[in-house]
Amino acid sequence: MVLTTGYCKYCGNPTNVEAPEEAEQAIVDRLATEACGCPMAETVRKRKKQAERAQKIIFSICDDAFPDAVKPLTDAVQGIQIGKIEDISIAMEGGVRIRMKRTKTGMAVTVEHKQKEERQI
Ligand SMILES: [Zn+2]
Repeated sequence: MVLTTGYCKYCGNPTNVEAPEEAEQAIVDRLATEACGCPMAETVRKRKKQAERAQKIIFSICDDAFPDAVKPLTDAVQGIQIGKIEDISIAMEGGVRIRMKRTKTGMAVTVEHKQKEERQI
């Protein structure tokens, strides 16, 4: 590892980072971006952590019971984060609805079990 200078891809500021000696500039720049304190780099770091948390929650809710819902919910995470998607709702068999929506602080996932009772007379 050597100390070398990379440039943040958002603000262009140089940052000294530890990188493998043979690392390409693109990799050094990625490390510098990850270490940069500018608002955009900070926002991207927060979104990445939030997306990781969302992925864990989606798996914990869906993996065993509703495996078919994992991919569409995961695919919607980024859209919800950037505000392109307000909410996504998946109606599963058996009257279960899984909904993921944008909130003021991030996003929320809810599972609704709609129980409809009908009596034939
Ligand atoms: Zn920056």
